[in-house]
Amino acid sequence: MPATFSEPIWRKPKAAPAFRSELSAGGTLDAVIVGGGIMGLSTALHAARAGLSIQVLDAGAIGQGASGLNGGQVIPGLKYDPEWLIGHFGQARGEALVAFAASTADTVFDLIRDEKLAVPFTRNGWIQAAHTETALKAAANRDRQWRARGADVKLLDQPEIAAMTGARGYLGGWLDRRAGVIDPLSYTMELARVASAAGAKIAERQKVVKLRKEASLWRASTQGGADLRAKSVVLATNAYTDGLLPGLAQTIVPLHSFQIATAPLPAELAASILPGGQAVSDSRRILVYYRKSADGRLVLGGRGRMALPSRASDWAHLERALIRLYPALSGIAIEKRWFGRVAMTPDHLPHLHEPEKGLLAVVGCQGRGVGLMSALGKRMANYLASGDVGQLPFPLSPIQPIPFHAFRQIGVAATIAWYRMLDAFER
Ligand SMILES: Cc1cc2nc3c(=O)[nH]c(=O)nc-3n(C[C@H](O)[C@H](O)[C@H](O)COP(=O)(O)OP(=O)(O)OC[C@H]3O[C@@H](n4cnc5c(N)ncnc54)[C@H](O)[C@@H]3O)c2cc1C
Repeated sequence: MPATFSEPIWRKPKAAPAFRSELSAGGTLDAVIVGGGIMGLSTALHAARAGLSIQVLDAGAIGQGASGLNGGQVIPGLKYDPEWLIGHFGQARGEALVAFAASTADTVFDLIRDEKLAVPFTRNGWIQAAHTETALKAAANRDRQWRARGADVKLLDQPEIAAMTGARGYLGGWLDRRAGVIDPLSYTMELARVASAAGAKIAERQKVVKLRKEASLWRASTQGGADLRAKSVVLATNAYTDGLLPGLAQTIVPLHSFQIATAPLPAELAASILPGGQAVSDSRRILVYYRKSADGRLVLGGRGRMALPSRASDWAHLERALIRLYPALSGIAIEKRWFGRVAMTPDHLPHLHEPEKGLLAVVGCQGRGVGLMSALGKRMANYLASGDVGQLPFPLSPIQPIPFHAFRQIGVAATIAWYRMLDAFER
């Protein structure tokens, strides 16, 4: 695969590398964190600040996972609205979960401000754009529920959404002003910098291949021969989960999300396309999401094929979506194409597991992990520091592999093809 298909347009902060890749010299650590994406690094930062000794191990380089590849949309909330969460989890846990979900974007923007992270960002909101009456009704229902909780949100009518997006084909939508956009690679690298400055050790190219319990301690061994002992291990491997913890990879369906970035837009187009710098996701079954980058490109993403892409035409469906929304972009070059993996769970919620004392795992970002994993990492660190399970917003659940997991991918591909066809009929 050409290197250009694995590299996003996002930038590392100028000072990178801002941390030294290093391994602890021995002794017993408070925690080994497997996976150096947003989840692992947020856990490491907050745990180190709480005085814990932490080692992060990543199989690749920091930023190579979904955290450095994503769309950089910082969206609060979960896939479900407040009333569903309370109905499903009960009043007390449900309300706590709604408060947690409402706070996830704040976690990111507070970190950027308080830790002085060198991360390009705009916090002007996220638009959920509706292209059918059904989607408009869903937006109105969502708006009612969040407004009742004091969230800074607003329903958009057709002229308003047309003015804010400059895109064709929307009947209206919903604006969530708590949201914003960041450069996700800068954010991930900067999290690594401050976690390291707080005392966490971070080692790249250290794939963990074996975990075992010895007396009351965990031992993590890497492919390169390193052996670390810790009171706890946190698996923060999400969509890149391998066979390290038996059954875990079978609890998620990993999907590919593809993205394209145009050349920097000429001034007159830039002024009419997302002039306020909001992020957008549309309401189609196979949705596309888009935003402008700090250097003035339009970046658009959506579902992609599960086989590894090998040529530019594998992104053609996204280019068609781009021109459908913005016909004026038909002469503008697509300068970058890339993809990454997202982890879906059957119930569309993140799953937290602790199959044995001190062995923790978090999976299932549902493609919305920038805010979620930042906030979840903070809560995980609180749990590691206090042992109080009440710090975790989601209940700990047993590892339950999806039945017929091996065939799931075929089912997903067929469902995507079917949904694409239904979306095409609704144009
Ligand atoms: C193309 C794309 C677009 C997206 N857009 C958005 C968006 O706009 N907004 C949003 O909120 N979310 C978005 N997401 C989702 C978001 O990126 C993820 O939810 C989030 O980054 C997950 O962070 P993480 O730390 O849990 O996992 P990751 O960042 O994927 O990190 C997991 C790490 O685990 C490491 N690992 C795996 N196995 C091992 C092992 N055995 N030993 C050591 N290391 C190991 C991997 O190398 C990897 O670095 C998008 C995702 C993709 C792919």
